[in-house]
Amino acid sequence: MPASGGGAAQTARRIAMQSFYRLDGLDRIVECGGDWDRFCLENGSPALLAHHVQGRMLWDHVDGIDMTSYLGAIFFHVRRSGKVFAIRHRCDSALMARLFEMSTEPAGEGLLVTHRLIWEERLHDGDWLPRMEDVVEAPRCSVCCRFHLDGAWVDPLRLSGRVLRPSAHCLCTACKQELRERLDEAAREGKGRAQG
Ligand SMILES: [Zn+2]
Repeated sequence: MPASGGGAAQTARRIAMQSFYRLDGLDRIVECGGDWDRFCLENGSPALLAHHVQGRMLWDHVDGIDMTSYLGAIFFHVRRSGKVFAIRHRCDSALMARLFEMSTEPAGEGLLVTHRLIWEERLHDGDWLPRMEDVVEAPRCSVCCRFHLDGAWVDPLRLSGRVLRPSAHCLCTACKQELRERLDEAAREGKGRAQG
């Protein structure tokens, strides 16, 4: 975990940041709550405010086939096993790097998905303004928020002084592999319990 600055107020805020959404059996968003709207505004995503997305299909708001498959695999596993499944992911804005834990659990006919902030860290100094030549476009992994630059996956926290903008949304091989291993492990645990 990277070192993160900030005093007690920031720490309290990090712990408090938690948002959730509830899906019905058809993956329609029936409710968004917690710090949902505050986070949308801070992250520069006003189109995702609760009153815009409630009643809509979740998949209308998921970018790309990679992320659709990633979430689809998690939701399928939770519905089939009836058990909670948690995995960590980044959700960075242009200014902030943020690590969340996403927890998915069965809720009635649908699912409850909760995002809890683990840490956040500024990507740039407060008074730093990017110049055009500092802006680089590259494909970004939607789970770890690393960018594919010069043949490698690079964390934007290690590139301060440059602004990275996603040219495409995809999934890196490490994130695909991690999910595959975690789901295999959860399935094995489920079988072990059923046989024991
Ligand atoms: Zn990744």
